[in-house]
Amino acid sequence: MKIINTRQDISAQVNELKFQNKSIGFVATMGALHLGHISLISQSKRQADITVASIFVNPTQFNNKEDLINYPSTINDDIHKLEAAGCDILFLPTVDEMYQSDEFWDYEVGELADKLEGEFRPGHYKGVTQIVYKLFSLIKPNIAFFGQKDYQQYLVIEKMCRDFKLDVNLKLAAIIRESDGLAMSSRNVRLDENERQTATTLYKALNYIKSNFSQLTLRELKQGGERFFQEDALLKLEYLKICDLKTLDEISEKKESVVLVACKVGNTRLIDNMILP
Ligand code: AMP
Repeated sequence: MKIINTRQDISAQVNELKFQNKSIGFVATMGALHLGHISLISQSKRQADITVASIFVNPTQFNNKEDLINYPSTINDDIHKLEAAGCDILFLPTVDEMYQSDEFWDYEVGELADKLEGEFRPGHYKGVTQIVYKLFSLIKPNIAFFGQKDYQQYLVIEKMCRDFKLDVNLKLAAIIRESDGLAMSSRNVRLDENERQTATTLYKALNYIKSNFSQLTLRELKQGGERFFQEDALLKLEYLKICDLKTLDEISEKKESVVLVACKVGNTRLIDNMILP
């Protein structure tokens, strides 16, 4: 696997691949890689000639400084995992390589980015679109792979690609879970033993809503789901909402939809979702 640290070198590499008519599959990550990330790499390997992964903990998408400082970093392990998965190129830039100090980014996604994560993490999607736009411009992927784990992020990036007329084929990949249902996340390593057990509540609540979707009313489903979070002092529920698949507005009539949850488990903030019914 080639490891590339600069914009200049990745551009040169991409130009060469384009000249050779190779298709590029791209997986953007913030590192501390787990099987969820690796599943994206595997899908890219199957669908593109060359797979490029990036590891970059993007400061502009963190509204909470402490979260940024404490974001897990396991770069040597990550490199081994990517190599084992057959990733061809790792783009691993520094913050200075990606940002100038006087930089300005005023793209507004609109309503889609203001709800759910946008409400609890103001400015988050502004930072996400800023970095993904930069990475897409440099790596020029034919296909880019994103996890359903961050479903709203996927929709936001889809909207950005439409707004900027970016010619990237976006793919949404299934959520990879631990054996007890907890969605894999780089942040899971921050959970102590107790919190790790309690964290399965997110999955249990989503599962409850999915399994009872046809029998109960929307109100009963939401209340029933929320009840899971009232039983443990470690849990602080931020939102649990059953939303339209495209607009992420809360639905008032049953249809194909997505239930999304965000919750603090101790000091660690986790998110998860499930497609309904
Ligand atoms: P991150 O490193 O958290 O920014 O995630 C990088 C990419 O991996 C994003 O597209 C995520 O949605 C995806 N991802 C994270 N966790 C999972 C998971 N458990 N299953 C599938 N994809 C995931």
